This record gives sequence, C-alpha cells and structure tokens, in this order.
Amino acid sequence: MDLAALGTDVERVIVSEEDLQAKLRELAARIDADYQGRDLLLVGVLKGAVMAMADLARYMQRHIEMDWMAVSSYGSGTKSSGVVRILKDLDRDITGREVLIVEDIVDSGLTLSWLKSNLESRGAKQVEILTVLRKPEAAKVHVEVKYVGFDIPSDFVVGYGLDFNEKYRNLPFIAVLAKHMYS
Ligand code: IMP
Ligand code: MG
Repeated sequence: MDLAALGTDVERVIVSEEDLQAKLRELAARIDADYQGRDLLLVGVLKGAVMAMADLARYMQRHIEMDWMAVSSYGSGTKSSGVVRILKDLDRDITGREVLIVEDIVDSGLTLSWLKSNLESRGAKQVEILTVLRKPEAAKVHVEVKYVGFDIPSDFVVGYGLDFNEKYRNLPFIAVLAKHMYS
C-alpha cells in the first residue's frame, strides 16, 4: 500500500522504503560477519517482525534457520500494558543454540527484556536482539540491543509490520499515525 492510498491516516513518513532496505542490507552484512562459521537461529516476533525478517533473511549470504513466537504486550490500543503473554511458542528446542531475536520496535523494552530472559532460561547458548526501530523510552530499561535500525521519536508509528488495530502492516515504509485516528 502506498502513501496516496492512505489519505489522511498518517501524518508523515519517518523512514522511507529505500532507507529501510538499505539499513536491512547493512545489518545483514554485519550479522553475516559477526556470526561467521556459527549456526544461527533467527526468532521473529509475530506479527510485527514479518517484513523485517523476510527482507533481512534474504539479504544474508549464509544458511539460517527461522522460528517464530507470538507474544502480546499491547491490548488493541497504543499503550503498553506491561503484561506479556505467549500466544505462539517456538516449534523447536533451542538448547545450546545461538539465537537472534528479530523485532519490529523497542518501546518500553518490556516485551524484549522478558523475551530475552525467557529464551535464555531455556538453555540457549546466546540470545541477541535486532530491532528495526527504537524509541527513546527504551533507554530506561536495561535491555541490550545488538542491532538497531533507526532511533525514532516516541510518536505512535505504523507500517512495515507495525499495526494500529491490525491495520497498516502492509506499508513498505514507516509513518507516524495521525492523531485523529486514535484520539
Ligand atoms: P514494548 O514492550 O513497550 O517495548 O512494546 C513492544 C511492542 O509494542 C512492539 O513489538 C509493538 O508490537 C508494539 N509497539 C510499540 N510501539 C509501537 C508503535 O509505535 N506502533 C505500533 N506498535 C508499537
Ligand atoms: Mg503490535
């Protein structure tokens, strides 16, 4: 879906399709180098990380495995509830595995810090994090993110996997949702 088809739903584009793709290509190259000669399991967080996972994995020049988890930390609105529920768990055991969590966004960081320790508690050898976007709030929680795409302001954003009430995931760019959509 392109900008013209959106009408007044969004305020402005903050990360263009070109910038997103260039960044994912760059991160893929860094990961290729960092994990050279090691097995790597990418764990995508449904549903927001679908686009990032699909693009990142295709830019990588090595074998990887993919698994997916679905967790819920938000209700249907725009504020984090702080309660994390597993809606879909991993298909395979991760004991001894090197895991890279692929996330769409770190906001409060609650979801990720919970997820990281959850995967570590299952005996993963190492758990690192990649996020496409990071908001300023994230600095307050101690969760180490190894790969960050873009630092953005704390506005509510949609697109490239990120939704508002399940819509807007299919935008190839990231945009700030217009205030009139939720206030
Ligand atoms: P956190 O636990 O506050 O870090 O929130 C993480 C999750 O909240 C993300 O995986 C997103 O699903 C959702 N989220 C946070 N900020 C936004 C936003 O600006 N737009 C859409 N979803 C968001
Ligand atoms: Mg969401």
